[in-house]
Amino acid sequence: MTEAESVTNQGVTGKPAGGLDIARIREDFPILAREVYGKPLVYLDNAATSQKPRQLIEALVRYYESYNANIHRAVHCLGEEATAAYEEARAKVARFINAPSPECIVFTRNTTEAINLVAYTWGRANIGPDSGVLLTLLEHHSNIVPWQRLTAEKGASLRYIGLTEQQTLELDGLENLMDSRTRLLSVTQVSNALGTINPVQELAAEAHRNGTMVLVDGAQSVPHMPVDVQAMDCDFFAFSAHKMLGPTGVGVLYARPELLQEMEPFLGGGEMIKRVTQEDAIWNDVPWKFEAGTPNIADVIGFGVAIDYLSDLGMENVRAHEMEISEYALRRLRQMEEVIIYGPPDPADRGGVISFNYPDLHPHDIGTVLDRYGVAVRAGHHCAQPLMHHLDVSGTVRASFYVYNTLEEVDVLVDALGQAHAFFSNDTK
Ligand code: PLP
Repeated sequence: MTEAESVTNQGVTGKPAGGLDIARIREDFPILAREVYGKPLVYLDNAATSQKPRQLIEALVRYYESYNANIHRAVHCLGEEATAAYEEARAKVARFINAPSPECIVFTRNTTEAINLVAYTWGRANIGPDSGVLLTLLEHHSNIVPWQRLTAEKGASLRYIGLTEQQTLELDGLENLMDSRTRLLSVTQVSNALGTINPVQELAAEAHRNGTMVLVDGAQSVPHMPVDVQAMDCDFFAFSAHKMLGPTGVGVLYARPELLQEMEPFLGGGEMIKRVTQEDAIWNDVPWKFEAGTPNIADVIGFGVAIDYLSDLGMENVRAHEMEISEYALRRLRQMEEVIIYGPPDPADRGGVISFNYPDLHPHDIGTVLDRYGVAVRAGHHCAQPLMHHLDVSGTVRASFYVYNTLEEVDVLVDALGQAHAFFSNDTK
């Protein structure tokens, strides 16, 4: 392992905890210096994927230049260095979400694969014709489709917790949705489409009182706020590295250790076995039982560096910064004529995601004009079509913030939005 991978809390901001030096942070992200159509890039599509700091990019280069090797089975020095760095990244992930041990952390390709892993293994063994799975209307497709497939295959029921007028979960009457047949509640901690923060700790307590297991989709929470899976008391927790300054191609499934022990493997092959005969095989210990084949070694190591970076900033500080940006953006957007803003009104109830629309304009048209001003936002259904159907819209425009965004960038967004609205208003007259 290299020095950079083994050292945490090196001091990224040079500022004491409690305030982030955003100008200094921005210098770590080379892509933020580029222009789009001659305008400075204003990257507000962080809920889709975040940008990457130089420290991560350099760690990937260092890995390929100096200790690239396959892991776990090599007897040579390079293999040992790569194995140590890979397993150290697992330990960093465990500490970051306060998992009881690194053995509770399974590396996958992304959140989607982590949820599918649970559906295929735990789900297949535990969901039957008399069972039910409970979701919410705020879920991303990756926390819907695996459960649709499983419940259809098993003849089980699939239900959804609805929404209040403020687009928070409608928890009145939850007892009617979660009954003795409900084996699993699978819920996102933060909605990628509206930003709504769900009370997952309370939901987990309620579910457990009912004998229901809990999976939390943390794709939009772990990157943006402190997360403690033990305090939350969830059974499964899934998230993706690429949304938290890390590389694409790495996801995480956390599960309570006893669950991982009893679950069948997901994929079969090398790495996930202890011994293979002509007839059968004995599985490896957890978590390697769930990591068949050569894993994404470089990117897992890079993910460890991204976690160091975030840990050094402090997740309380990251959350405070995003709340400040969201509060300002909400205030500015509310001053604009005709803009419809979705999600809870109080920034304390939402992550750094703001979804909005103009009544007669297609979100794609808005997004395309914003792009011409250098502003990258997402426009569409955000992989949450049941939610869009509920809101009776085809999609929304979504601005999503991260640790390198500034209040000035919100001003650029608002100005460009005004231009886009004026352009289309004139166009339709
Ligand atoms: N869940 C939520 C809440 C998300 O926002 C996303 C991605 O946007 C996912 C799941 C899927 O993540 P991935 O595409 O990395 O698997």
